[in-house]
Amino acid sequence: MLADNLGKIHREIDAALERSGRRGEKVRLVAVTKTVGPEQVSAAAALGLRDFGENRFQEARQKLQLFPGLRWHFIGHLQTNKAGEVLAGFTLIHSLDRIRLARRLQSRAERSGREARCLVQVNISGEKSKFGLSEKELPDFLEAMRDFPRVRVEGLMTMAPRVEDPEEVRPLFRRLRELRRSCARPGLELRELSMGMTSDYVVAVEEGATIVRIGTALFGARTMQSER
Ligand SMILES: *Cc1c(COP(=O)(O)O)cnc(C)c1O
Repeated sequence: MLADNLGKIHREIDAALERSGRRGEKVRLVAVTKTVGPEQVSAAAALGLRDFGENRFQEARQKLQLFPGLRWHFIGHLQTNKAGEVLAGFTLIHSLDRIRLARRLQSRAERSGREARCLVQVNISGEKSKFGLSEKELPDFLEAMRDFPRVRVEGLMTMAPRVEDPEEVRPLFRRLRELRRSCARPGLELRELSMGMTSDYVVAVEEGATIVRIGTALFGARTMQSER
């Protein structure tokens, strides 16, 4: 089943790239494993997946230990006091959204002699329940990142609201792409756009996503205690 799901997702992504004139470009598929156990991670890795996403450090810990050779993406809200541990275990943090966190990442990165690769999370929809900077705050925030040379901002991330028709969120994805264009500058290329989940990844790819984060469409419906 996993293989079938993965095949379908690849086909959908390729078709969306084709439709939007992005033929030949690559979209990185991050397999979101927050609702599944290590066996599923193992099965997905056996199918060739290398990028995996988790939204909580505590729950991710065991999987990171079991599969240190995979690329782990931190996609949830990041508490400042977890910055060091997340930096040590994860390839890319998708949820940089405040100066205080950047400052902590900078100091932890200095201490460990590495870089903190991050995406800045933007709350395009303006929903109160969502983390992320507002569009208005974004330019100043990116400007302030000059003070944190070890925090490498590689792009932008957003989470769209859940809607029935993914066409409803197309303008949000388009807006993130426009923000990338208006905010990029030499030394801050913002190459990555992390947008699109199970319900809306096709539209996200059509609008320029370079990374999609997919859980349910790969592993099946979530269980009761799991959450988005
Ligand atoms: C859970 C989660 C996803 C994946 O959601 P699905 O709808 O299961 O594909 C993507 N991004 C974030 C930030 C998540 O928390």
